Amino acid sequence: MKTLEDFNFEDKKALIRVDFNVPLDAEFKVTDTSRIDAAKPTILKVLEDGGSAVLMSHLGRPKGQRNADLSLKHICNAVSDSIGVQVKFVEDCVGEKVDEAYASLQSGEILLLENLRFYDEETTGDAAFAEQLSNYGDVYVNDAFGTAHRAHASTTIVANYFEGNKCFGYLLAKEIKAIERVMQTGEKPVTAILGGAKVSSKITIIENILDKVDHLIIGGGMTYTFIKAQGGQVGDSICEDDKMELALDILKQAKEKGVEVHIPVDVLAADDFDNNAKTQVVAVDSIPEGWQGLDAGPQTLHNFKEVILKSKTILWNGPVGVFEMESFAKGTIAIGNAIDEATQNGAFSLVGGGDSVAAVKQFGFEDKVSYVSTGGGAMLESLEGKTLPGIAAILG
Ligand code: AMP
Repeated sequence: MKTLEDFNFEDKKALIRVDFNVPLDAEFKVTDTSRIDAAKPTILKVLEDGGSAVLMSHLGRPKGQRNADLSLKHICNAVSDSIGVQVKFVEDCVGEKVDEAYASLQSGEILLLENLRFYDEETTGDAAFAEQLSNYGDVYVNDAFGTAHRAHASTTIVANYFEGNKCFGYLLAKEIKAIERVMQTGEKPVTAILGGAKVSSKITIIENILDKVDHLIIGGGMTYTFIKAQGGQVGDSICEDDKMELALDILKQAKEKGVEVHIPVDVLAADDFDNNAKTQVVAVDSIPEGWQGLDAGPQTLHNFKEVILKSKTILWNGPVGVFEMESFAKGTIAIGNAIDEATQNGAFSLVGGGDSVAAVKQFGFEDKVSYVSTGGGAMLESLEGKTLPGIAAILG
C-alpha cells in the first residue's frame, strides 16, 4: 500500500483529493473545521518536503451547475487558518484559469480549486474531465475517505493518469488500517455491536462480518425483528415482518460459524414514541400491546458490558436505543462507557457508519475510542465487504 512516506515532494506538485464538504452558516462561515483539520498532516507533509499542493474537493450538491453559495472560496480562510499558509483560490477546477494558476504555483504554496461538482462530469466519472484534472499534479494523493466509495472523476478515474505516482494520504491510510484491523488482523475475541433502526439496512454488514467476529451484539430497533421471529411478543416496537425469516437465517448461520450472538433480554418500553412517555422495564419477548421498546434494559446492558470487556477488538455501528431522546439514551451511553473501559484495558475500538458517529460525538466518546471513522457511507460499504473504487484505483 503506497502512502505519502513513499514519496519526496521536493519541487513536485501534489494533486490532493480532500474532503472539504464542510458545513457553512448563513454568512458562509465554516461552522465545523474538523474535515479541514483532518487533511492537515497530508498537506503539511507535501509542503515540508518542499513541494506545493493543489487541493480539490466537492461542497454540497450543486448538481452540475455553478452555484455561488457552494463555492469553495467560502472556505479559503478556514483552510489558510488551519494550515498556516495563505491559500490561493482559482474560480474553476479545470480550464485556462487553472492552467495559469498551476503554472505559477511555487514550492510551499497551496492552490484550492473550485467545487468539482459544478461539473456533471465529476460525478459521472468522465474520463476527459479526469484527464484535465490530472494536468494539475505530478503525484496524485487521495485523502478523502468520505467519497472513496464513489467512482467519481476526482476520486477514482483521475488515478488512471498517475501510474506509479499515486498514493493514499495519511487520513485515508488511517481509515484503511483501522478497518483492516477489525475485519482481518484484529486480536481475538473480536466483537461487533450492531444497533440502529432496521435489519434491512444492516443485513449485508451482518452477513459479511459473521466470518470475522467471535461475538455479535444486536441492539436497537433491529432487536424486535429477531425477537418476533423467535415467537416473542414485541407490542408496538419497530419490526420488519418481512425480514423475520432472514433474522432466523442469520441466527442459524451464526451458529454454524461459531459466532456467539447476544440479543437483548429486557428493554425499556414506552407507551409512546416521546421523550416524556410513560416507561417500564419488561422482558424483551413480552412487551404489552400499546408499548414499544426504545432502549436496552438493565440486564441486557449488564450482559453486553460483560462481552465488551472481554473483547480485544470492537466494532460499533448503530445506537442501541433512540439516543436522540434523553429518556432513551442511557443504553447507548452505557455501551460507549463499556467500550471506553475496554479500550483503556488495551482493546482496539472502531466506531463508524452514520448515526453511531453522531452518538459518539454527542456523548463525548470521540477521544475515548481508538478510532472514529470519518466516512459514513464509505465505512458502511467497507463493512459490507465491498472494495471501494477510490481505494482500488490507488492500489491498481
Ligand atoms: P441507523 O442509521 O440504522 O444506525 O439507525 C439509527 C437510528 O436508529 C437512530 O436514529 C435511533 O433513534 C434509531 N433506533 C435505535 N433504537 C431504536 C428503537 N428501539 N426503536 C426505534 N428506533 C430506534
